[in-house]
Amino acid sequence: MPYRTTQALVLQRSDYRENDRILTLFSPQLGRVDALCRGCRKPKSPLMAASELFTLGEYVLFTGKSKEMVQSCGVVEAFYPLRLDYERLTHAALMATACLRVIQPEEQAGHLFILLARSLRRLAFEDLPIQAVTTAFLLHFVTLTGYKPRLNHCARCGRALGEEGAYLLAQEDGLCCLSCGKDVPRHSWLSDSQLSWLRQVLVRGIDKAGELPDSLPLELLRQYAQAKLETRLPGL
Ligand SMILES: [Zn+2]
Repeated sequence: MPYRTTQALVLQRSDYRENDRILTLFSPQLGRVDALCRGCRKPKSPLMAASELFTLGEYVLFTGKSKEMVQSCGVVEAFYPLRLDYERLTHAALMATACLRVIQPEEQAGHLFILLARSLRRLAFEDLPIQAVTTAFLLHFVTLTGYKPRLNHCARCGRALGEEGAYLLAQEDGLCCLSCGKDVPRHSWLSDSQLSWLRQVLVRGIDKAGELPDSLPLELLRQYAQAKLETRLPGL
């Protein structure tokens, strides 16, 4: 079967030859697909929109002798506002890079795909603070990739943490209480309100997580994801 149709998001693109691009697509069923998109840089090419970063579409792929090619594409969502705002764009790029680090060819990743598509939609079209969208994305991302942080007990003494802050430590897979954390970096501290918001995001999702904390622990979650995946993620 040389033709396959799949929904996919464009995570990466690079110019190739005079008018072509190589796209890295993220498909919920096929995982990572690197595909040649022929002629898409010609003016009036029907594949122009299909070869833009973060485009969500129904891609028809043709498997040739050595490579996969985009035959056609029905664009579902271009997430156009992401291209107009540098800050939104850098957050979307962080999410895309995180997914690129974990998806594999021919490996289903339906939940991660849904997380990314929803998060891009929130970034592009909703009023939620950008920092909150990306922090919640990273928390769900580490959870889906097998590194869910334990947010209810101190990893060192086992004590249940009530309405209090704690340190978030990648090497402990979760939290460390104030009295156990004498040796840990101060910047890994989560306040009581940050911690309770993260717990709510995990259990109920960002839309029902309630009041946002004064500041969002975005950088801390980015570092947590970096440490667990043993990879570099772009800074914000
Ligand atoms: Zn402790």
